[in-house]
Amino acid sequence: MLSALFHRFIPASAYGGQTAFPALSRIDWELQRCPGADSAAGILERWKPDLYTRLRARFASTAAQALTLKILNLCLARYHFHTRGAAVLSRPFGLVTDPSNMCRLACPGCVHSTRAEALKLFDWRPGTLSEDRLSALLKLYGPYAIGAYFCNYGEPLLNLDTPKLIRLAKTYLMGTALSTSLSVRRFDADAYVESGLDFMILSIDGATQPVYERFRRNGDLDLVFGNIRKLVDAKRRLGKRTPALSWNFLAFEHNAHEIPPAVRMARKLGVNQFRVVNPFDVRWDDPEIRPAAVKAGVRRLDWLSIANRPENWNPFPDSVESGAIARAFERPWNEHAASDSAPRSGHTCHWLYKNIVMDATGRILPCCGGPRPDMNLVFATLDGDGGDPFNSEKYRRARAWFSGGSPASDGAPYCARCEWDHTTVNIGGPEIGRYFRAADAAFFDRRSLGILSGW
Ligand code: SF4
Repeated sequence: MLSALFHRFIPASAYGGQTAFPALSRIDWELQRCPGADSAAGILERWKPDLYTRLRARFASTAAQALTLKILNLCLARYHFHTRGAAVLSRPFGLVTDPSNMCRLACPGCVHSTRAEALKLFDWRPGTLSEDRLSALLKLYGPYAIGAYFCNYGEPLLNLDTPKLIRLAKTYLMGTALSTSLSVRRFDADAYVESGLDFMILSIDGATQPVYERFRRNGDLDLVFGNIRKLVDAKRRLGKRTPALSWNFLAFEHNAHEIPPAVRMARKLGVNQFRVVNPFDVRWDDPEIRPAAVKAGVRRLDWLSIANRPENWNPFPDSVESGAIARAFERPWNEHAASDSAPRSGHTCHWLYKNIVMDATGRILPCCGGPRPDMNLVFATLDGDGGDPFNSEKYRRARAWFSGGSPASDGAPYCARCEWDHTTVNIGGPEIGRYFRAADAAFFDRRSLGILSGW
């Protein structure tokens, strides 16, 4: 722990240590000047053995292969993002999946709200994510991805197999996180602590039941507090610092006055950090629920638990997917064709190059937007036929639309009309930084992380 903190502020190069920066800066320099996607793939192939050798000096062979793939994939994704490519050779580095499409709460603005369900506003269907379906997604992208986020619109704890799903992602050496209301009756806290989960967001917007339930409708605050106690107790008994617990408080006009008592409660319960979040405006659903004009921010209640967690970067070394990682390592980067349209520099959406979203039934969505009958947001279906959903026709059309190559027309992906936030993805720069610092904070110094995450 102290070593991780030390390396965060003192670069290894300051005392003659090796870092990833010389190789990364050279790869970045070459990619910035390469004439097309084939040439970019060639640069990655050339650097693969060199980068692997540098990592092999610090990691076991499978971990070194996995890190080589994840780093080169980030470099390639960055190349495609900057050139605004339509078909890409890179894989999504963040995987967002719903373990369960269901939720027992009915928060305003959500696909599960009473009004949204009565008006059938969203094209959302029940379903539970199976291990087989997640395995199929991980076979495609797991060796290249740095993080998995187990939540979009469903309550992940309703799937009793979610701890197994988390463990599957850890076998591909990915960081893992989920977001939950914790308002569930069947909850195996030990299973979550033992799953390898890195980070758990607790969505609790109040300190007393009457205030809390104005937004978290059907939620039971006593049940939530009881489940936090179970988690904290399980971490203590099992001697683990993970998952780090973050109480996220959506600040509305009706609950902002409860932020101070909520912070006190979080500290008393043993939560590791408290985050005030400015929510989306949900007045279209309930005009009485209005965002509060308060400053968003994080309060660390326990620095040590929130810092890098190197011991959880590879918690199951004996079950790492070494075969799948080795096969991916041997595979050339230019297996399929990428588009080589003239590089553009105009606006585009980060989601289209960085993360992929899959609901529990296997529908592939480009972002966290809830699909609706009037929005073309289902970009593919994971059918296990080996195809690449990240390069489906809709993905390519959406990317091409931003780069001016594909006119918006009837049936075009919703991106052509989208006015949502195009820059904030679920797994982005901060998660990339945390991931590589947890792997090796000395090798992945500040300048190395700037290249990997600063785009
Ligand atoms: S443009 Fe909008 S709809 Fe398309 S991926 Fe980005 S956020 Fe989603």
